Order: sequence, then structure tokens, then C-alpha cells
Amino acid sequence: MSLLKPTVSLKNVTDITPELLQQLQIDAILLDVDNTLAPPTSHIPYEGVQQWIDCIRQSGIHIVICSNNYQKRVKPFSDSVGLDCVAMSLKPFPFGFNRAKRKLKEQPKSVLVVGDQIYTDVLGANLAGMQSVLLEPRSEEHGFTIWLRRKMEVGIRKKLNRQ
Ligand SMILES: [Mg+2]
Repeated sequence: MSLLKPTVSLKNVTDITPELLQQLQIDAILLDVDNTLAPPTSHIPYEGVQQWIDCIRQSGIHIVICSNNYQKRVKPFSDSVGLDCVAMSLKPFPFGFNRAKRKLKEQPKSVLVVGDQIYTDVLGANLAGMQSVLLEPRSEEHGFTIWLRRKMEVGIRKKLNRQ
């Protein structure tokens, strides 16, 4: 369970406040895209996401997008919200997180991974020794692998909600 346990569980990305980041002593965020910032395949962010990105960056925290999706999906989206990105990051493996960290000007002391999936975002963060925020999936998803991963998440999310 511990490798599948996020530091914090929240509903939406916009629920992450500068105060929470200060409390967790975070200086950089590695941010998922699909179901975290926008519906899968959509280039339009969820309501309030652009303002949230601007607000967090103004508080001095670096953000890099780190997604398992393809470059042709991730790069235009990242450009549109004004962030650097790593596509095909192979979460939960550490390769993409390491590439994303190299994009930061200063090496961060404490990194937060934010995403909506336990078996990619949270597991990857824990394997890399990073903190994590697990979000609730917001949009409908299609495909067998995501269906399977969501099935595997049910028990863990129930347990997290009881804590
Ligand atoms: Mg996602």
C-alpha cells in the first residue's frame, strides 16, 4: 500500500494552494495532463487551470508538464498554457521525471508529482522519492488499459477516503 499512497488526495488540481505547497516545502511540480489539466485529447483546460498555473508560478514554484501521452498531444497543450514539457515519460518509471528535472534552472530540493492515476503518477512519485497529490479523474475515459487501472484503483481510493 505505501508505494501506492499519495502524500495528499484532492479533488481538482486547482485545490492545490500556495499554502499547501509551502507546508510541503515544494519548489517544483511535475504535472500530468490528461484528466488533470484537461479532458483526454482536449486542448481546452478545465475551468480555472490557467489562472491556477499563473498563480502557482507567481509564488516562485517551477512547473514542468510530465505526461505519458505522445509529443503531438502534449507539446501543443503545454505551449498553450505556457509550460515546458516531457512527453512519453513512461511513468511510473523515473526516466521522464529525471528528464523533467533537467529542464529546471535550479535543481529542486523537493518535487511534487500531481496526477490522477495511482499506478502511474503516485507509484512513480514514490519510487522516485518525491511527494505526490492524487486527483480525482474528471472526464470519461476509453480503452482497456485505463479501465483495468481504474478497477485496480477502486480499493485503494476507498481506503484513502476513509483515512
Ligand atoms: Mg492523467
